Formats: sequence, structure tokens, C-alpha cells
Amino acid sequence: MKTMDFKVWMKSIDRMSRSQRDKLREQLEGKVGADTVVTLIEQSLNGEPACPYCMSAKLYRWGKVCELQRYRCRQCNRTFNALTNTPLARLRHKDKWLNYEQTMIQGLSLRKSANSCGIAKNTSFKWRHRFLRMPEIQQSNQMSGIVEADETYFLESFKGQRHLPRPSRKRGGKAANCILHGTSAEQIGSVLTPLLNMDVILCTDGMPAYKQIAKHARIVHRPVNISAGQRVINNIYHIQNVNAYDSRLKQWIAKFHGVATRYLGSYLGWHRMIDRLGRNITPTFCSLSALGKTRQFQQLIAT
Ligand SMILES: [Zn+2]
Repeated sequence: MKTMDFKVWMKSIDRMSRSQRDKLREQLEGKVGADTVVTLIEQSLNGEPACPYCMSAKLYRWGKVCELQRYRCRQCNRTFNALTNTPLARLRHKDKWLNYEQTMIQGLSLRKSANSCGIAKNTSFKWRHRFLRMPEIQQSNQMSGIVEADETYFLESFKGQRHLPRPSRKRGGKAANCILHGTSAEQIGSVLTPLLNMDVILCTDGMPAYKQIAKHARIVHRPVNISAGQRVINNIYHIQNVNAYDSRLKQWIAKFHGVATRYLGSYLGWHRMIDRLGRNITPTFCSLSALGKTRQFQQLIAT
């Protein structure tokens, strides 16, 4: 817009009614929100865009799509932008993403998130699961030193499914009857053992399955005899951190009044993300997490 035109336009603000100004403010805030998100997404490429199809870094700039820079690969000729092949590809209303992530930090329900951001409940549902796709799979892949392990149970839930595969449960069912992942040494071991370095010291509540796993993996095991009132072994080995984590998780998840078992993984990832960052968590971090780019983010804030 030319400077003169802009001045004329600015003067017209004086003649606007209050509701017109409110609309204008809303539009501008949305625009600023979208710009912030676009900058964030572009930065997530860390200045080194590469073709997501063939990994080539030889690219042409190829116009823009939804305000994002589009590239064309010189090697395979395909076009892409920073969101291509990420869980956030083709989601609309970028101006509302950071707001939405804020509601996720607050742990709001789908409906409350939708109301707070002015989006439909279906959109809220779709966004939640897209935003959580990466946090769901981001977890420790190698542990060393002292490792505390414990198991926790969630009632199996078919919330949201029309046809229940079993008769409905009366309120207050017992979790012990509805174990999700089981507690056999094979079941726990198949998840736990690949995460453990050979030098770990595994602290547990002494459940037989853990003894078997430790023996099989040839790692040091320190079972705490909780039922005999033991809390710590040699003032060092205990399972208090994992127990505290479990109680934070249970308290947080209780707000949702039951999570469908098929979405439990997403919710666990969501809680992991929030718990790990604590008070330092920001909507920006969550968005980068959704893009699977948190490593770049850490580099960004370190520079
Ligand atoms: Zn390519």
C-alpha cells in the first residue's frame, strides 16, 4: 500500500464504530498470529531446507503457498514447503495455532479449546491429534545410570466409540481387571530392555517380572521391598521419582474424565511434553514439538 493511501486509511479509523474497530483489531491480531507462526515454521528449517522426498539441498524458490515459502527440488522436481510431510501439513488457520497450543498447555478439554480459539469442535479434535503425533513418539531411547521403573494402569475405555466391544462398566471399575499392557516379563521387557544401557542400575518395587528382566538383560537390579516398609536402599536406590511422575500423570489425566484407550498414547506424549518443560513450556515450543523440531529450537534459543 502506498504511504498516502495508508494515511487516508488510518484517518478512516476515527470514523469507525466500536464494533468495526473490534473487527479490525481481531483481523490484525490474527494477522500477527499467522505471521509469527509462519516465521516459526520457516525457522524450523534452520536455514537449510532440503527436499523431503529425496533429501537434496539443491532447490529453487518457487513462489509461496499459504504464506509459506515453496521450494522446487532441482533433483526430483517436486515442490514442497516447510510443512510438507509433517503432521501439520495442510492444516488451516495458522493464526490460531499458538492460541491452541496455549490451551493445550493449560490442559483444556476439546470443547474448551475450541471455544477459546473460535474453531469448531471437529477442528479442535483434528488439531489435537495432529499436534500430538510427534510428542507421542518422542521419548527417551537410551537410559543410563540409575533407572527407576514402575508400572501403572488405566481403565480400558471405548469413549467415543459407538459399539462397545464389551458390556458397559458400572462407575468405579477396578483397574486391576482391565490391565492394558499386561505385566508379564515378556510384555514389560520388550518395551523396557531396548531402552537400557548395559551399565544401568534398575530400581523397581521388586515385582518378579523385573527380576526376570534384569537377569535376562544382565543388568544390576535393586528391588525396593515396599511391602516391608522399605523406601530407600543404601540411601541411594528408590523409586520415588517414578512414583511422583505417576501421581502427576494420574492427576493431570483425571481432568479429562476418562481418555479413550486408543488415544492414550497421544495423551501420554502430551503429558510428557508438559512435564518435561514444566514452567518453561511455551506455545512456540509445543508447535516445534508438533513439527518434530525441538532440537532446532534448543539451538535457536542457545544462540
Ligand atoms: Zn527432491
